[in-house]
Amino acid sequence: MKIYINGIWKESSNSSTLNKYNPSTGEVIDTFPAATKDDVDEAMDASESAFLSWSDLGTAERAKILFKAEELIIQKRGELENLLTLEVGKIKREAVDEVNGVIDQIQYYAEFERKLTGDIVEGSNSKRKIFQYKVPYGIVVAITPWNFPAAMVVRKLAPALLTGNTVILKPSSDTPLTAQWIVNKFIEAGIPKGVLNFVTGRGSEIGDYIVNHRKVGLVTMTGSTSIGQRIMQNASSNMAKLILELGGKAPFMVWKDADITRALKSLVWAKYLNVGQSCIAAERLYIHEEIYDKFMSKFLAVTKKLKLGNPETSDVGPLINKAALSGMAKTVDSARDSGYKILTGGSAANLQGKYKNGYFFEPTIIENVDQNSSLFQDEIFGPIIGTEKVSGIEELYTKANDSKFGLASYLFTEDPELMLDASEKIRFGELYINMPGPEASQGYHTGFRLTGQAGEGSKYGINEYLQLKNVYVDYSKKPLYINTINNSLFDDL
Ligand code: NAP
Repeated sequence: MKIYINGIWKESSNSSTLNKYNPSTGEVIDTFPAATKDDVDEAMDASESAFLSWSDLGTAERAKILFKAEELIIQKRGELENLLTLEVGKIKREAVDEVNGVIDQIQYYAEFERKLTGDIVEGSNSKRKIFQYKVPYGIVVAITPWNFPAAMVVRKLAPALLTGNTVILKPSSDTPLTAQWIVNKFIEAGIPKGVLNFVTGRGSEIGDYIVNHRKVGLVTMTGSTSIGQRIMQNASSNMAKLILELGGKAPFMVWKDADITRALKSLVWAKYLNVGQSCIAAERLYIHEEIYDKFMSKFLAVTKKLKLGNPETSDVGPLINKAALSGMAKTVDSARDSGYKILTGGSAANLQGKYKNGYFFEPTIIENVDQNSSLFQDEIFGPIIGTEKVSGIEELYTKANDSKFGLASYLFTEDPELMLDASEKIRFGELYINMPGPEASQGYHTGFRLTGQAGEGSKYGINEYLQLKNVYVDYSKKPLYINTINNSLFDDL
């Protein structure tokens, strides 16, 4: 594997590398470069040099390159699906679905080719105008996570490039191969040299340096809240604009009149998609007391039927790495210590053969969780869910809203009044009523509170990559009178 700077695929400047593991088997599948500060400097210089001609090219021409990248991805989509399974352990259905999302997003953003607008505002008289142009920030640093390593990369590259920014992409160290594959497709599609640069390496080693760099105009990062906060502090040095898509703790609310099968299917999706390693994963289950037993017996029965193992044929894949696996074990141990009842799961899966060293954890349900416990307050990011009975609507709202995170939330009810009331009172960036996620390209994916700031998708998301520049023009050709200066000083000139 190589990094890509100024149109050249290369080793890192000191040739050091890191290992990439297959989470299904624990085996090393490749090595990738650990980029250095010198590599970062070179990528910044290349991005800066390429900016003027790229931003001058025009949106329609840039869109053509995006459409071409979309076409190339469609042609070879099977390779990308296989990489997602190899690198993240995605089960086949989810790998296919993520690639569908990748294609949809590139197309969605490229279709803004003739839709971006600015404003012309009247000045202080009819011959004065203020042109409000939307212009790119310059160099965009895109930092991506591993959980949806193709979709997250494209969700940043497509709008950043379409709007005329140049980009330095730093993917997660758990998923460099997927990112490389996508970068390659953009390059094959005709992205000029220097416009898109790609550096890999540990965020803990080069992340601060990239974000702090004086040439950066915008940092768009998806990842954990703690790293997002660190980026925010670092970006105070260059005042880079920030798009931060961070952690979640979605409440999943099932009211007494809910269509139970609909809620259940959505819950199985929202909890076990990507083994619960999703920012919109259901992490807190609130069920009305009147249907609690009925709902829980069905949820338990379905959860027990989920198959683990071979990502090609199973229902639930592995966690991303060893640390995530031991994190789940610790979460369950501490739940046991607190006296909670584990209804099912609770251990690393005992698989045989090829997958015996994979990072598989049993889907786990923990009952009667206290609202103030870590289980209900901190992001778990795995196949574990806590449940709690609720009886009143105010209680439901209060508990659901009681979170430092504010990304997704889910509500199941047949009552239109409750749907509308909850739309106002549930304070999350996304509320899914009677349906599972995920977010759509035309929706604005945004989180409240510690889930970050700004957002992605929709016309609002694309405009995050543009800043407003104001040009004041007077074309009256009349003598200029300025009422705060002595204009007679100019009479005899
Ligand atoms: P992470 O550990 O925060 O890493 C995210 C990215 O930040 C990686 O590329 C990482 O590089 C990099 N990084 C690490 N230290 C850095 C530093 N000092 N400066 C700059 N970059 C640095 O998150 P993750 O484990 O990959 O992803 C899981 C998290 O992402 C969860 O909290 C999840 O909720 C969140 N997420 C949010 C959304 C959303 O839309 N809100 C979507 C998906 C995921 P290395 O890999 O090299 O450390």
